[in-house]
Amino acid sequence: MTNETIAFIGLGHMGGPMAANLVKAGYAVRGFDLVPAALTQARADGVQVVESAAEAAATADVVITMLPAGEHVRAAYLDDGLIAAAQPGTLFIESSTIAVDDARAAHELLRAAGHRGVDAPVSGGVVGAEAGTLTIMVGGETNDFAAAEEILQVLGSRIVHCGGPGAGQAAKVCNNMILGVSMIAVSEAFVLGEALGLTNQALFDVAAHASGQCWALTTNCPVPGPVPGSPANRDYLPGFAGALMAKDLGLAAQALESTGVVAELGGRAAEIYRQFADGPGGARDFSAIIEEIRANSDPTKTDSRGKL
Ligand code: NAD
Repeated sequence: MTNETIAFIGLGHMGGPMAANLVKAGYAVRGFDLVPAALTQARADGVQVVESAAEAAATADVVITMLPAGEHVRAAYLDDGLIAAAQPGTLFIESSTIAVDDARAAHELLRAAGHRGVDAPVSGGVVGAEAGTLTIMVGGETNDFAAAEEILQVLGSRIVHCGGPGAGQAAKVCNNMILGVSMIAVSEAFVLGEALGLTNQALFDVAAHASGQCWALTTNCPVPGPVPGSPANRDYLPGFAGALMAKDLGLAAQALESTGVVAELGGRAAEIYRQFADGPGGARDFSAIIEEIRANSDPTKTDSRGKL
């Protein structure tokens, strides 16, 4: 049991269950969100709902933010008065997925105001948030990581200190660039296999135990059948929505641009998922990209057989 008070700002799909887990672990949680339905659920979960972000922060030892994007974090820190309202030396845990540059700017704002902070983006989705089994990638000074660790252990089952300010977001963006590129590669391989007369099960049975093995294939398999729990078996109900993949790859593209790294596949994956998410794909699991690849393939040629 702990006597620390936590301000939790952003009680949406992820923040809601994360705040509920902190209540269950014995923390006093003061929560705020702009959406009334989120507040109603939080109240039912034992969160003390307050009138504003600043009110939540004023008496808190720790401030956690779980907001949609970088501009929301900046607005909460400055316009909504989180930084100004918090007592000097308050620990800020910023868990939204935002650009590495924005995370570093947030650290600077905190440092200048006499606060402490870690960037701590998460992976594992709503299921992981509810179960308290998120993977949490942390950037910040060693002392600040140590101060945040007990709370992060409540929220996740794998907590990795990745380095200094921004390193958590850097790890997140690199991981999700691997995921976006590998899902496209796996989907292209299935569509090619179909055109070559292979069954999906046959390709899966080989690649899942050969050098093509990866999470996109063996856990989130984009065709129905081989992995019964994958979103392809429920008409691509997310899972991990195309809109979130497009957002994360957009952050990767931004990081590629700001570092000057040439990553042709990462950049192309960002374009592919942006286009996908601008249509109905935004609300579907990101593995539904396979349907786009199939639709774009030439049916006159995919029917052809060898001529020899
Ligand atoms: P969400 O939209 O469900 O929740 C965000 C909440 O923030 C909303 O309820 C919104 O009303 C609130 N909000 C926005 N501005 C606010 C402000 N100024 N003050 C108070 N509340 C404010 O989003 P989510 O799915 O919970 O995702 C949150 C973050 O976690 C995002 O950065 C997302 O990329 C990341 N993430 C999401 C998932 C996932 O599977 N949903 C997985 C990993 C990481």
